[in-house]
This record gives sequence, structure tokens and C-alpha cells, in this order.
Amino acid sequence: MRVILHACCGPCLLEPLDALSEGHDVTVCYANPNIAPFEEYVRRRDVLLGYADSAHVPVLEVPYQPDRWLAAVSGVERDPAHRCRACFRLRLGLVATEAQRGGYDAVATTLTVSPYQDPDAIREAGEEVCAAEGVHFLVTDFRDRYPEATRRSRELGMYRQNYCGCEPSRAEAEAARARRRGAREG
Ligand code: SF4
Repeated sequence: MRVILHACCGPCLLEPLDALSEGHDVTVCYANPNIAPFEEYVRRRDVLLGYADSAHVPVLEVPYQPDRWLAAVSGVERDPAHRCRACFRLRLGLVATEAQRGGYDAVATTLTVSPYQDPDAIREAGEEVCAAEGVHFLVTDFRDRYPEATRRSRELGMYRQNYCGCEPSRAEAEAARARRRGAREG
């Protein structure tokens, strides 16, 4: 089965790629217009490309179009639950379109390796956009592999970002760190 695997970054690619490579012909797809700023997008992409190259896995990049992400989340930017659902639909929709164009059998995503993401929202978004393109969405839950993904990415010296990807998530992560600092300092 030919699977196109949406990947958000190098560290999150490690374990899902291993899991799916068993019995599947995997192509990685970097489709992440959510990531800001552009320098961060490039940094994550280049880490992912470096690893994929060493693993001899092909990568397809959907050109960076941050305006599409802004349009997709318009009105819900400050509401993480709705914003993330819209973000999942956009990114997985881009991959589903590539799957349909390229004749892939199924779409999967590395997003379910993160314990910080909602797997039900990812599944719902993936099934919706894949149904629209007439391709199969492979439902996965890689969260039990997160500790190993963390260990391996550290061992490989990979850049590990400290926010999910979009500008609001960067501000939210920074605010959370400031709250924790404040609590520690009493
Ligand atoms: S927090 Fe992450 S998943 Fe949610 S909208 Fe931002 S980039 Fe997308």
C-alpha cells in the first residue's frame, strides 16, 4: 500500500515512519502553512529533510502559503480547540489532495505522536478531508511512542521546537512558561 505521511517536523517523524514503513511504501509530505515565522518553517523542514534523506524516504513539500492558514482559522485564532481543528483540516486536506493527485492508497499523519494534540479531532479532520478526495485515512495513535521519539531526537541532536507551530501557539507557550517561572519564584 502506498501511504503519504503528513509530517509536521523531524522529531515527530521518527517513530511514525518506523511504524508505517513495516508493510507500506511511505512518502513523507511536509504540508505546514501553520508554522510561523517563515524561518521556523524552514528550520523544521530542513531537519525533516535531513532525516528523511538519511532514511532514504522521499519527501514532497507543499509550498508554504501562510495566508491559507490565516484564512482557515479566521475568527477562531484565540480559541485553541476550534483553531486546531481548522488547522488539522487544512493541513490534512492539502495532503489528501496530493494523495488523490499522486494515486496514493492512504493518508496518515505524524500528529498523533504528540500527547499535546487531540487524536479525536485529528481523526475527524482526516476522515472528513480524505472522504472529500476519495482516499483512505489511516487512523493512528502513536502517543505511546512519544517518549521514544523524544529520546531518539535528542540522541540525533535534532532541533526540538518549544511551541506547536502557529503564532498564537508561540504566544501561548511563552505565556505558560512565564506562569511556571512565576510560580517557581513564588
Ligand atoms: S496550536 Fe498547532 S495545531 Fe493548533 S492551530 Fe496552532 S499550529 Fe495548528
